[in-house]
Amino acid sequence: MISEQTKRTFEQIVKAMTPEQRAVIQKHFENATEEQKIQMIEKIVSTYEANHREHEPDNTRVTAEANHSKDHQSTEEHKPSHGKRRLKKSVKNALWAIAAVIMLVIIGILGFSFKDKLFGTLESIPSETIATTSVETIQETTPSPTPTVTPTPEPTRIPLASDHPDLTGLTVVIDPGHQQTTDNEQELYASWLSATKPRCTSGTVGIVTGTPEYELTLDYSIIIADYLEQCGATVILTRDSNDVNISNQERAEIAVSNDADLFIRIHADAAGDSASSGVRVYIPDSGDFTDTSPEYAEQLSELIAEAEGLEVNDVRSTSLYTGLNYANTIRSFQISLGFLSNSDDEAVLMNEDNIRNVAEAISVFCEEFV
Ligand SMILES: [Zn+2]
Repeated sequence: MISEQTKRTFEQIVKAMTPEQRAVIQKHFENATEEQKIQMIEKIVSTYEANHREHEPDNTRVTAEANHSKDHQSTEEHKPSHGKRRLKKSVKNALWAIAAVIMLVIIGILGFSFKDKLFGTLESIPSETIATTSVETIQETTPSPTPTVTPTPEPTRIPLASDHPDLTGLTVVIDPGHQQTTDNEQELYASWLSATKPRCTSGTVGIVTGTPEYELTLDYSIIIADYLEQCGATVILTRDSNDVNISNQERAEIAVSNDADLFIRIHADAAGDSASSGVRVYIPDSGDFTDTSPEYAEQLSELIAEAEGLEVNDVRSTSLYTGLNYANTIRSFQISLGFLSNSDDEAVLMNEDNIRNVAEAISVFCEEFV
């Protein structure tokens, strides 16, 4: 609960703000819980009072005058009083200090994820109005909280299993399926087919968490790539960020032009039937390896299924995937790790232990080709 006194002071502070300043506060209040709002209000008021005491020892006047003004609102509409002007002046000095405190408090309360929004707001405020003196005052009078800036986490490196394979000399290209933004411009399924499809889509999303497939596949691929490198392989990722535009044909061409021993595409599936579950492996139904690839695909599907504790759903030779068709002169496999349309599969795929198990399984598979 906020005391009446705090509430009144806060109202006065807000009243004396410019519309822009008010908008800043309002914006952050919209994103806060009730408890966070109370914390913010108390922090703003206590900072204001501390700041005010330091510069104007007779701060009690603010509330007294505010009440007084209220009683004479009708006359003051036409004739601003000295009191009101003084209130405005004294509040003005502290306003940017308060704005800065709000930033600190919100960073502390809502965490680092809020930072971008916050700085976006700051950038929209003319820089010359952010007085350095106010910021210094805050640092002197506000004991806490100190904003903590969380660095972007490095991908967790998986320690090598004691019986890890030696993949020295092997070149593996890994394609994290999809990308953040769908590109609907068309490209051929294959050079020998006339049908076309979008260059690249963003894929499916997890039925429970809403995690996009393009994010999941990148998370897996970065860790798998790191693991294979630790085993001695040369690994190339077709993308290392979600904000790219690389078509499926272009991804295949990256693998071919690097003369990859293995091209591994990481995907997840989705189906209308939420009961559909398990691992699928797709291979091209054309090209140089049609004799032996089905056997390897079978083996890969079993390794992945075992690693994840899921069943093998399907192993299929197909011309449906542009990224496989254009890479049919090298050994190409498309792994679908599970169904994001199935809540149990999704829970498995979201589990960090699963990434480690999949990385180990792929390293074991790669050993066949050293
Ligand atoms: Zn996919």
